[in-house]
Amino acid sequence: MNIFKKESLLPFNETQFGLHLQIIQKEHPLDDKFMLPIGQILLHLSHLLHFSSFTRSGDIPLSFTHVNSISIFIAFLGQARTHERHSIDNEFVLKYLNISVRCSVKMPNLRTDVVVIGAGPAGSTTARVIAEHGFDVVLVEKDRYPGETNVCAGAMPRAIFKDMRLPSDIIEKEILIEKHYFPWGIKVFKPDHVSVYRDVFDRNMANKAVESGAKLLTDTLIEDVHVKRERIKVISKGRKVIESQIVVFADGPNTLAYRKFGIGFAPKATDVFLSVTVEVKWENNPIDFFGVYYNYDISPWGYGWICPRKDTINAGVLCLYNKLRSNPINSLNYFISKHPLKDLRAREIVWLRSALIPVAPARKIYGKRMLVVGDAAGMVDPVSGEGIIHAITGGKLAGEVCVKALEEENFSSFFLSKYQTLWHKATFTYLYSKYPYLYSKYLLSNIFLYLYRLDRNAYPMLAALTRAGTREIFNTLKFIIIDRLK
Ligand SMILES: Cc1cc2nc3c(=O)[nH]c(=O)nc-3n(C[C@H](O)[C@H](O)[C@H](O)COP(=O)(O)OP(=O)(O)OC[C@H]3O[C@@H](n4cnc5c(N)ncnc54)[C@H](O)[C@@H]3O)c2cc1C
Repeated sequence: MNIFKKESLLPFNETQFGLHLQIIQKEHPLDDKFMLPIGQILLHLSHLLHFSSFTRSGDIPLSFTHVNSISIFIAFLGQARTHERHSIDNEFVLKYLNISVRCSVKMPNLRTDVVVIGAGPAGSTTARVIAEHGFDVVLVEKDRYPGETNVCAGAMPRAIFKDMRLPSDIIEKEILIEKHYFPWGIKVFKPDHVSVYRDVFDRNMANKAVESGAKLLTDTLIEDVHVKRERIKVISKGRKVIESQIVVFADGPNTLAYRKFGIGFAPKATDVFLSVTVEVKWENNPIDFFGVYYNYDISPWGYGWICPRKDTINAGVLCLYNKLRSNPINSLNYFISKHPLKDLRAREIVWLRSALIPVAPARKIYGKRMLVVGDAAGMVDPVSGEGIIHAITGGKLAGEVCVKALEEENFSSFFLSKYQTLWHKATFTYLYSKYPYLYSKYLLSNIFLYLYRLDRNAYPMLAALTRAGTREIFNTLKFIIIDRLK
């Protein structure tokens, strides 16, 4: 705290003297709005005192980083007899600065019970559960706000809104019809789904965590994690350190958990869908169904889709990475050019994005003082690529296991392994509700991958069987076999 020290003493020059003041303060509560006027005041003060000011960032003697640290550089260069104030550049200062003083105000590292990396649905749910139980949790997001760069069609069961107590005014459209266009016929399902914009949805999810007491740090990219005997050290770009008892990786398919510790989802060409998607402007569009299109030329192992919102339509194509036959943008163009909705082609594209979807469950989702959740743990439907509901289910379990570990002060790998057991049980219960067991879907998709060598419609067959569910198996087989032979 408050260390004043001489940083360097350059040869003294009679007519000039200077002061280089650097203030580093971590975990500051100030934001840009507050700091900029301070910079302006310092600038005017330096002019009043006939000092020239120099800064690395320009003419305001101030530069600072975001969220929980500021770094202020001020250099005054005065000349006793002359009053030239504005013609001083970096080199001049570095060469002639006579006295350099560094003032460093260092706050201790931020300490908390749990750090959750990634404020997607998985991370926000985990943080919320932990905060609701009265423990300290810091939710860290690399983007300026949760969901800013998320790539998603944004369709999900309406039940999520009730379960998570989210405001219904963020729902873009109700999706009560899903039309699946198989190569041999159309099948209509009646889900109770809704569509959202992911940036809006993710912000609301994160807000719920914050309302429950979680601290949200945005604009903070986590670059490294160290496991110490007594704690975890989570290190962000800019070397900010957060110390905690447990870290939860909810950072999506390219998770640091796998890169650093070998747990969580392992990205392989056989285990990821590559997706390309566009948001097309179409104000007050009449589309009220989610369309899924299976066609070898659109995607040999995957599908094309359209998902409506009030004033836009999301359209995209996904394909298992190692089954790609062409550039996915060409597949998307092909899909849109062949789409029966001719209106889709002529309209303005708001954005075009690409992302990976993990479609294989991770083998291990826990370690000493750490858990992995959501896409980072491969908690995605391996056939359809849907993952929001699984991320939320996994997030709840991860949060509950963190709470138990904190209550019992047991952060061993053995204790945390119960999280994986609970996750397996949770996915098993899907078998008895609407959704088939995720792991059997994974197994089934591997069997159909063999079948693909003989029949290029293996993926649509797999999709038809798994979408309809186990109760509809005979009707689906009839649909596939009879209608294909027609
Ligand atoms: C094109 C596409 C369409 C999809 N459509 C649907 C759909 O309609 N319905 C559905 O259910 N699922 C869909 N999914 C899948 C769904 O988007 C994911 O399964 C879901 O978002 C997983 O949530 P998550 O919280 O695990 O990860 P994410 O939502 O990916 O969140 C991870 C968060 O971590 C942050 N982050 C990453 N690294 C760091 C770091 N080092 N430091 C700090 N922060 C970090 C990211 O910025 C991000 O906010 C789709 C996916 C794609 C790619």
